[in-house]
Amino acid sequence: MAQKRVLVSGAAGFLGSHLCEALIADGNHVVGVDNYSTGNSENLKGLNQEVRFSFIEHDICEPLEIDQLDYVFNFASPASPADYARLGPETLKVGSYGTINLLEVARWSGARFLHASTSECYGDPEVHPQPESYWGHVNPIGPRSVYDESKRFSEAAVMAYHRYYGVDTRMVRIFNTYGPRLQPTDGRVISNLMMQALQGEDLTVFGDGAQTRSFCYVSDLIDGILRLSKSEEHLPVNIGNPEEWTILECAREVLAVTGSKSRIRYEALPEDDPARRKPDITKAKELLGWSPEVSLREGLLLSLPYFEERARKNSGVQAAK
Ligand code: UDP
Repeated sequence: MAQKRVLVSGAAGFLGSHLCEALIADGNHVVGVDNYSTGNSENLKGLNQEVRFSFIEHDICEPLEIDQLDYVFNFASPASPADYARLGPETLKVGSYGTINLLEVARWSGARFLHASTSECYGDPEVHPQPESYWGHVNPIGPRSVYDESKRFSEAAVMAYHRYYGVDTRMVRIFNTYGPRLQPTDGRVISNLMMQALQGEDLTVFGDGAQTRSFCYVSDLIDGILRLSKSEEHLPVNIGNPEEWTILECAREVLAVTGSKSRIRYEALPEDDPARRKPDITKAKELLGWSPEVSLREGLLLSLPYFEERARKNSGVQAAK
């Protein structure tokens, strides 16, 4: 996919900004779009130096007029449980109006389309690990429903534009991902624990910490997404690291990597918090020749300088108060 013109929504987000960089490194011209709802202009610092990057501040819930595109990557949405709890209606809108608007852009410009979906489509899964063929176990009215159903609607919309209008679509189901640029304040487990450990605060473990997640380092995820974008697969593909950790084990990894003396503090488990999550990546392995390379320990070490810098900034702010 050399010298293509590519649009990325959610470009100022954690994954969006890493994706833009990878697409530029792959020889493309990238137009980033974001309304900074949960994105951060700091994530665009490096990209703004690139001649093959331009940026449009825009909410994709409003129609977007742009043509001569070869590819559209739809990565716009609040994605952390704390963010989508705060931005419930906005989350539903971006996954419905926003996705449809971008599908229209792809339809009229003849561009390919790759949609960022999520393991949340599986809800609190009764099948373990989760293959793409599993339809999920989602509470349609619970606190997570604004995200889960918005993402499930997006999947239906992507398939409809593919089936009815012949748009050349792809769909990745992304499992928990971490790395530099994960917002320290977005409430996710890795960012919370790393910041707490580095700031000498208690590590907050929700529930008894026996619930599991499978954490993928961002470079592995982006590699899988680029491979998928070049494939001919229209049905969803899981991209994630199948190494499964309890949250308590994850907290211990964070303590080991940071060398922190922080203690673990147990707090209430949020409503509908999935008990376990682990991708079946057989399809990605066979179809894309992809599997993750970075272990949790290695990924946390790679992320450490970023979180240390954030913690230093925070302590500067505290000192100035
Ligand atoms: N979690 C935790 N402490 C925190 C933040 C999250 O124990 O400070 C737990 C949360 O309850 C969930 C898991 O870690 O079981 C992952 O939460 P996260 O918000 O990162 O994303 P999720 O996978 O739930 O979408």
